[in-house]
Amino acid sequence: MNFDNHPCFSEKAKHKVGRIHLPVAPKCNIQCNFCNRDFDCVNESRPGVTSTVLTPMQASRYLDGVLEKVPSIEVVGIAGPGDPFANTVETIETLRLVRAHHPSIHLCVATNGLELPSAVDTLAELAVGHVTVTINAVDPKIGANIYSWVRAGIKVYRGEDGAKILLERQMEGLRLLKEKGVTVKVNTVVIPGVNDHHVTDVAREVSRLGADIQNCMAIYHVDGTVFESVIPPTREQIESIRLLTGEHLPQMAHCARCRADAAGLVGKETDQEIQKLMKSVTLPQVTAERPYVAVSSMEGLFVNQHLGEASAFWIFGFKNGSPDLIGRRSAPPSGGGLERWSDLSTTLSDCCAVLTSGVGETPRAFLEREGIRVLAMNGLAREGIDSVFNGREIPKIMQCVPGKCGAGKSCGGTGNGCG
Ligand code: SF4
Ligand code: SF4
Repeated sequence: MNFDNHPCFSEKAKHKVGRIHLPVAPKCNIQCNFCNRDFDCVNESRPGVTSTVLTPMQASRYLDGVLEKVPSIEVVGIAGPGDPFANTVETIETLRLVRAHHPSIHLCVATNGLELPSAVDTLAELAVGHVTVTINAVDPKIGANIYSWVRAGIKVYRGEDGAKILLERQMEGLRLLKEKGVTVKVNTVVIPGVNDHHVTDVAREVSRLGADIQNCMAIYHVDGTVFESVIPPTREQIESIRLLTGEHLPQMAHCARCRADAAGLVGKETDQEIQKLMKSVTLPQVTAERPYVAVSSMEGLFVNQHLGEASAFWIFGFKNGSPDLIGRRSAPPSGGGLERWSDLSTTLSDCCAVLTSGVGETPRAFLEREGIRVLAMNGLAREGIDSVFNGREIPKIMQCVPGKCGAGKSCGGTGNGCG
């Protein structure tokens, strides 16, 4: 067990060892009654909040840039903004990229534990040294009041059924992590009137399974949640809880409740330059090898075709401050599965981005891995092309955010916007 190299596990390390959270995991597989991840506010400093969600490749590029600027960062973690293992593909790919580029860096993950048991072998293989599991109850009757639902596989469980499944997976995950020698911190959110009388039971049980340290944190007031009217415990209440839980395992008392995209020393605000760097890695990079932008459009004026249904792409360069039509290229036949996306990446191999009104997760991930940024938007193609060539984000009002409009995966890309 090594506490000294991790700022969240050791108060001493907090002042000299920096950490960075790579926000690659937007989805969650449970709903805690104190969580609302719909905010993107730089003044909100708490878990579940991030300015941007990165793809694994972007996260890797971002990390390389940050490490050049902030050499004190020795710990790379994935802490949401959802749950790392509700986004296992992205999480594992990110950890693999980081491990390959930075063999000696410390890796850590923070999870609700639902999908932890099936991830433990891979985490051990990647030498993830520290894992945080949030365990708020060890009695499903109490857990039922904390979680609205738990999604295991394709089924959603509510009440005690959901809390029981979550608890079983958390306990199993914890046991397996300790078998592999991973250092485990248990976070417990203290919710007055719900689990404050039960936190010592949590400490006793997780200590029995080998957890190394516990972090009892006061519930954070968040508007729009089931617990929005719960009054958070005072510092004195938390301290007296820690005295009791401290009889079972060491307690962490310096948690800064960091954002899912925090970077630098714990407790210090993320440097503005680093925030800019994070935004910049999400923008397409126009280069000599990739000087064009492809547009998925019926007539070449509006972005109004879903990537899956496009039979051709309009290719644009930029000349004298305006989009310059280079030509129209036929798309590989639709319905070919991965072969289509592989052929499409060849067809668009000189494009840094493709603008489309809708895209599935698989083609997006495939094309982005091949270096083609996929931007889902609606409206005038010219606006999107201008943004790419001027190094700006697509205007928010034109961005198509999967799931925001309620259509989710069934979005057909009508070109009518998300609203
Ligand atoms: Fe929110 Fe985390 Fe709970 Fe998921 S596990 S609902 S992201 S607090
Ligand atoms: Fe560490 Fe707490 Fe910040 Fe997580 S939220 S990185 S445990 S200080």
